[in-house]
Formats: sequence, structure tokens, C-alpha cells
Amino acid sequence: MRGNAEAHEMIAPGSLPAVLELIAAAPGKWTPIAGGTELMVAHASGRLEAQKLVSLWGIPELRFTESSAGAVSIGAATTFRDLRAHAGIASQLPLLTRAAGWIGSIANQSRATVGGNLVNGSPAADSSPALLVYDAEIEVISVRGRRRIPYSSFHTGYKLNAMAADELLFAVHLPLRFGRHRQYLRKVGTRRAMAISKVALAGTALVEDGAIGEIRIAAASLAPFPTRLYRTESALLGRLVNATTIEFAHKALLAEAQSIDDIRSTAEYRKRVAANLLEEFLMELRAGAASK
Ligand SMILES: Cc1cc2nc3c(=O)[nH]c(=O)nc-3n(C[C@H](O)[C@H](O)[C@H](O)COP(=O)(O)OP(=O)(O)OC[C@H]3O[C@@H](n4cnc5c(N)ncnc54)[C@H](O)[C@@H]3O)c2cc1C
Repeated sequence: MRGNAEAHEMIAPGSLPAVLELIAAAPGKWTPIAGGTELMVAHASGRLEAQKLVSLWGIPELRFTESSAGAVSIGAATTFRDLRAHAGIASQLPLLTRAAGWIGSIANQSRATVGGNLVNGSPAADSSPALLVYDAEIEVISVRGRRRIPYSSFHTGYKLNAMAADELLFAVHLPLRFGRHRQYLRKVGTRRAMAISKVALAGTALVEDGAIGEIRIAAASLAPFPTRLYRTESALLGRLVNATTIEFAHKALLAEAQSIDDIRSTAEYRKRVAANLLEEFLMELRAGAASK
């Protein structure tokens, strides 16, 4: 059943300090709305519980991309269309540009924000696997100040996160040190576009003298929230990239994955697909090592 717009109050203070003051005066009472692509769907289906909405759309302090020598910072209200158009991100953090192109349609990408994708906390959020393997940090802000949280610790449960009730997501910071790493990202869904992932896997790895010197693996739609696969990563460190390691990696992922069952797929299917994707990543690593 469609929601009743009159049941909701929405205000747009227009500046970051004004939004922070408003939230600080009544923590938990005001729900931020950025692009609205999640919240308006909830409203349209009568599921929007928030009575008071405060708009972040059009606040310039939240919509930016800044590059320094060693990092890129992306404001929370930056849209996925902004990200796709950013040449520096495309060349230095290509998995993020690719993931941005998966978020719904172009129309959706013109409103959907990075902050909204992360705070919404869907297990299937498309930007998450890339941000996890790039060691992203989340910066949150309130009238009390700012603090940074490693993105790998940001999600604390299904649709839960480490922010306090008076905090906003301010920016995502990404170190630029993956230029020499081989990088992988693949989403498996019912079709190529406009489909929520059944499983998505991202990886970055450094192969030296045929052995895995560094590796990061992250998945979406596998667990209740997007997550790194730390046990599989450590099991692979130092191993030669060969057929035995590829088989070993498949088993390691099956052993680690705590998969979810839902209307889109069974837990067993998700685990097997994730293990196959990891195999594909390692086969690419092996091919890359052989061509050197
Ligand atoms: C047709 C359609 C297709 C879609 N396809 C995909 C897809 O393929 N992949 C995918 O990952 N997602 C998809 N989505 C979901 C959605 O577009 C994304 O999650 C988007 O990034 C949400 O951003 P938003 O700014 O619109 O969020 P909003 O709806 O504005 O907010 C979402 C949540 O985040 C909170 N929030 C927003 N910004 C902040 C902030 N700065 N600080 C604190 N809290 C904040 C809000 O309070 C709310 O709880 C789709 C949505 C639609 C409608």
C-alpha cells in the first residue's frame, strides 16, 4: 500500500552545520535523506517509518571528490554518476567505477549517493566489495566532531552500522596504493543490468615471484552485510599461484562463508558461486604471473 506523504515532515536546511545542529537536538528523530532512491521506494510501498526527514541533497560540503598525493576522498552525497565521470577514480580505483555503473539505471545513478548505499546497509550493496578491498575508511561527523572508522568495521549486523544517532556519514577515504595489484570484480545476478546481486566478489592481490604476497577478498550478498573473507585471505598468503592453490582457495572460501538464504538465492548456491568467482580471480592471477 502506498505511503501517505502527509504523515511525513521533510525539511532542507541547506548547510551541513544546520543539519548537524538539528540532528544533535533530537538524536534519532530525524532521518537523513540524500538521493532518496531507497527511502522513496520504502515510501511508495508504505514501509517508510521515518516521520521526520532532513534533506542532504544539494549540500555542497557533502558532494565532492578530492585527490591528494596518497588518497582520494569522496563526499557522502556524491552520486554514482559523479563517480563514473571521475577520470582519476577510473584510472586509480577502477573497481569502484565499475561498481558505480551497476547501481540501477543511469537515472538511478544520478540520484543514488555513496553515503546512502553504505548507510542503507544492504548485504547486496554494489559499492561495498570494491570499497572493502581498497581498504576504505569512513569519516563520520556530528556537532561533537569527526572520527574515522575502517570500512571493514562499519557494518555491525544486518542493516546496522557503527554510527551514533547524532552522526552523519561525511566521506569515504581511499588510499591510492593498489596500482601494482591485480584487481578483480564480478557480480552475478539474474541479468546484467538493473538486477540486485546474488553474489558479488572483489579482490586485489600482489603476486611476487609467482607467490601471493598480499591479497584482499570481499563479497556482497554472501553474509548479512558486505564483508572481507579474512580467513581465506590468510590461508592464501605466501602460496604459489597454481592449480593446487586454486583448488585450496575454493575449499577455504566454502569453509569460511556464513551464507544467507533469501528469496533471491539459497545459502548453498551463494557459497558455491562465490567460491567459483574466487577461482576465476586466482586463474587471472596465474595467467598474469605466467605472462611476466
Ligand atoms: C530502481 C532502483 C535500482 C537500484 N539498483 C541498485 C543496484 O543495482 N545496486 C545497489 O547497490 N543499489 C541499488 N539501488 C539502491 C539505491 O539506489 C542505492 O542504495 C543508493 O546508493 C542509495 O543512495 P540514496 O542517496 O538514494 O539513499 P537514500 O534513500 O537517500 O538513503 C538511504 C539510507 O541512507 C541514509 N543516509 C543517506 N545518506 C546518509 C548520510 N550521509 N549519513 C547518514 N545516513 C545517510 C538514509 O537515512 C537512509 O537510511 C537501487 C534502487 C532503485 C530505486
